[in-house]
Amino acid sequence: MSFDVARRKMVQEQIVARGISDRRVVEAMLKVPRHIFVQEAFAAQAYSDSSLPIGEKQTISQPYTVALMTELLGLTGTEKVLEIGTGSGYQTAILATLADRVFTAERIRPLALRARKCLDSLALFNVMLRINDGEGSPIGWEEEAPFDAIIVTAGAPAVPAVLTEQLAPNGRLVIPVGDEEEQRLLKIERQADGTFETAVSVGCRFVPLIGKQGW
Ligand code: SAH
Repeated sequence: MSFDVARRKMVQEQIVARGISDRRVVEAMLKVPRHIFVQEAFAAQAYSDSSLPIGEKQTISQPYTVALMTELLGLTGTEKVLEIGTGSGYQTAILATLADRVFTAERIRPLALRARKCLDSLALFNVMLRINDGEGSPIGWEEEAPFDAIIVTAGAPAVPAVLTEQLAPNGRLVIPVGDEEEQRLLKIERQADGTFETAVSVGCRFVPLIGKQGW
């Protein structure tokens, strides 16, 4: 099966059939080639219904999880987005397709460099990537705040205040929160009056967020 056919099948069976209804998200998932973001040895499994190893003990998220988190962010095309945990860069590419600008931070240099190459190969030049371990300096990107949407793609013990503080009015933060084994996806929305509203979505399993705001 060609990658294009496999990707269409993935979108139909794993994304649309499971209730992702935001047309723009579905189109982005059809467009972005997931196989270039996985290691060569896993290319044949790139459109399977699972997370996959990307080296450095990290994983590329399951396609459905990427689609769901993106849908929860409610992107329309005008947003400035922050992502913590670039990893392979696949989620970054989806965000860059759907928003105006994406700022993404990764703590592991070889992953960040590989992700940059993949993003450049797709001409996604609206992505600003930096290497930040979240230990010396906190996670987030204070100089570029506020953000209309923030996504954390590693599991955190709690919602980091440093991130909710970087949300614009009506901004949304999507983050897996729980213990190191399993988490729940939370969507935190900053109201116009500055208060926060939290909605709880599905259970999930992410690699741990490392550093002061993580483990
Ligand atoms: N969205 C990515 C997920 C990668 S896994 C993908 O689908 O490919 C999560 C990533 O978060 C890992 O690459 C890990 O190194 C990174 N990470 C963990 N803690 C971090 C921190 N404090 N700051 C930046 N990146 C972090």
